[in-house]
Amino acid sequence: MSKKRLALKIEGIVQGVGFRPFIYNLAQRLNLTGYVQNQGQAVAIELEGTKDKLDKFVELLSKDKPIHSQIYYIHKNWLEPINYRDFTFKDSLKNSTDCSFNVLRDLATCTKCLEEMWDPDNRRYRYPFINCTDCGPRFSIIESLPYDRVNTTMNSFAMCANCKAEYEDPHSRRFHAQPIACPNCGPELELVDSQGHLKAKKDQALQLACEAIKSGLIVALKGLGGFQLLVDGCNQKAIARLRKLKNRPAKPFALLYPNLSALRLDVQVSSTEAELLQSAASPIVLLKCFIDKYTEVAPNTPCLGAMLPYTPLHHLLMDELDFPVVATSGNLPGEPICIDNEQALSRLANIGDLFLLHNRNIKIPLDDSLVQIVANKPVLLRLGRGYAPVSLAIPKINKNILSYGAQERNAIAFGSSDVLALSAHIGDLDNLRSWQHCQDVSTHMSNLYSFKPEVIACDAHPDYNSTILATEMAKKLHVPLVQVQHHCAHVFSCLAEHQIELPVLGVAWDGTGYGLDGTIWGGEFIKIAPKLGWQRVAHLRPFPLVRGDSTDPLRSAAGLLHQAGLEEKIEQEFLKIMLNKNINTVHTSSVGRLFDGLAYLLGLVDRVSFSGQAALAVESLCNLANFSRFYPFTISPLGLIDWQPMIKDIVKDIANNRSKHEIAQLFHNSLVEIILQVAQQQGITNVILTGGCFQNRYLIENAINNLTCAGFQPFWNQQIPPNDGGIAAGQILACSYKYK
Ligand code: ZN
Ligand code: ZN
Ligand code: FE
Repeated sequence: MSKKRLALKIEGIVQGVGFRPFIYNLAQRLNLTGYVQNQGQAVAIELEGTKDKLDKFVELLSKDKPIHSQIYYIHKNWLEPINYRDFTFKDSLKNSTDCSFNVLRDLATCTKCLEEMWDPDNRRYRYPFINCTDCGPRFSIIESLPYDRVNTTMNSFAMCANCKAEYEDPHSRRFHAQPIACPNCGPELELVDSQGHLKAKKDQALQLACEAIKSGLIVALKGLGGFQLLVDGCNQKAIARLRKLKNRPAKPFALLYPNLSALRLDVQVSSTEAELLQSAASPIVLLKCFIDKYTEVAPNTPCLGAMLPYTPLHHLLMDELDFPVVATSGNLPGEPICIDNEQALSRLANIGDLFLLHNRNIKIPLDDSLVQIVANKPVLLRLGRGYAPVSLAIPKINKNILSYGAQERNAIAFGSSDVLALSAHIGDLDNLRSWQHCQDVSTHMSNLYSFKPEVIACDAHPDYNSTILATEMAKKLHVPLVQVQHHCAHVFSCLAEHQIELPVLGVAWDGTGYGLDGTIWGGEFIKIAPKLGWQRVAHLRPFPLVRGDSTDPLRSAAGLLHQAGLEEKIEQEFLKIMLNKNINTVHTSSVGRLFDGLAYLLGLVDRVSFSGQAALAVESLCNLANFSRFYPFTISPLGLIDWQPMIKDIVKDIANNRSKHEIAQLFHNSLVEIILQVAQQQGITNVILTGGCFQNRYLIENAINNLTCAGFQPFWNQQIPPNDGGIAAGQILACSYKYK
């Protein structure tokens, strides 16, 4: 039979997942000659052999591909044979014109590596940096593409003879595993005190760190995507001390459990949640939790954030400790997490008692990702290690667009041809270091992707630091700047990840976003239709908010009472005067502020120290059986939703000592009913639920149920966060409509 030559170019997540070794072995098995090569972010293969063998190769390529790989496109090209003698690896080719966004995510330690790590006869016994082609660091260590060892932070470690042999052996699990390492040649641990004095090395460093945690001290640990602060999860005093030092009075902490069975002793874990906890992404999963064992860990919230060990180092540590520990980002309030040893020692010196360090550099900070299950599907609330960067196929765009997202929970996004990539969580941009970090991420990712922006997109808010950065960038590059209204971007962020036929009704509810009429929006219904573009078709009746600390629940409560004509209920004279004379007030239609006001009226919170705190407190009361009743409200033909009757009834109920649980539940039910009635008024089948308010699981799950029962088709964010972390993705899609 005559020989043929087949050239394949494969696009997708094909680098750093053991793809080339797989190709090599498959070619060997089928007696094919040729080569495999990383080209930019694709893999190129040339094969020679008989037609049936080549066809078989293509068939098995898709069928047997490595578990963490994804194939988006296979380009095939039949050529004249040139008689390759064997099958080889060609050096990687950096193709600068290539711009696809398939960067590999960091992967949790696989079971095979764990077996080796616990095997006293293995040369990597108890080695905290064991990895293979199926697991280990990726995005966090990549300096440039293609993904080869020289382009990672592992380039400072020379492989020992044993590692090199495995690396070059096509039959080894570590064939071309770029971060390959062992105790002889790889990174190692060091324990130092807060002055940087060396206390111990290697296994002894680990042992002493465990002792410290057991005795209630705070250990700063250099993890995969940055530093974490660890403290005994059952030691109330130690946790209180961490809260004080970190200036984090109330925001929930996540718990790192030794294993799934230990977690199951504390909380109910569904099979979907268990799968997620043990996945290669290994995120923090928010679990419904009504036990009060961890009031210091997660006060006044309906859930507990939990995760399982995901690096060999975490496995070693948690095996030794065998109890849950608080694991929180190693950063100062508002700043990005620390990634290098000196940085951590200087910034966290007043928080960490001991520092468990290692010498593998982290290229870019990645927080632990945060996920919750909504209607049995994972929803990303914070995009970080294991998920970032997210890439999505979107309708064709004709320009390279770079978007700068929002001010809070900032993340940036890249759009090119038919793909969109969203960065990891960057942080709130009201801090100089986050501001710098945002620019670093933009530079790093632009370099990785060889990306040259032709359009810059940002929020419509003139004072957002993201808007200022975007404006500067657009000027510098002499490219157009497109501003996208905040809630419109929320709706587009959900459109980006689902194939939804227009028209859609977007329910965009959040804390705050710059409106186009001089008010602050946040309780919006936005219609997007093919020719019409977008239109605000309904919204909550605005109420006045005395300027100042906008998330102060007292101000929201006073504004609601004032608007509803319940002036006499406002206790603070100065607020009464300012509201009456309309001094220094803004108007807002925000649902987030409605939650704030209710939380205050119910006596749940006086002051909030993180966004969403008031809403979480209200949600945590909804643990009763569902009520079918709701508070009264009206919707005008023009879509003005009047909540005044509702607030009047709530105030009455509070005066009559009705149970807070019932009030909170009826309030949630009313919001669900509002969504349903507006959807009916608009007569649009496809309904998008987006914005920070839909992190409220009770609200979104009931909205989904009620909409579905009434014949609507609800959609909600899953891969792209529903909160402001998803805004940049929405900006890309909204902006791309202009360049069709
Ligand atoms: Zn492995
Ligand atoms: Zn080695
Ligand atoms: Fe928002």
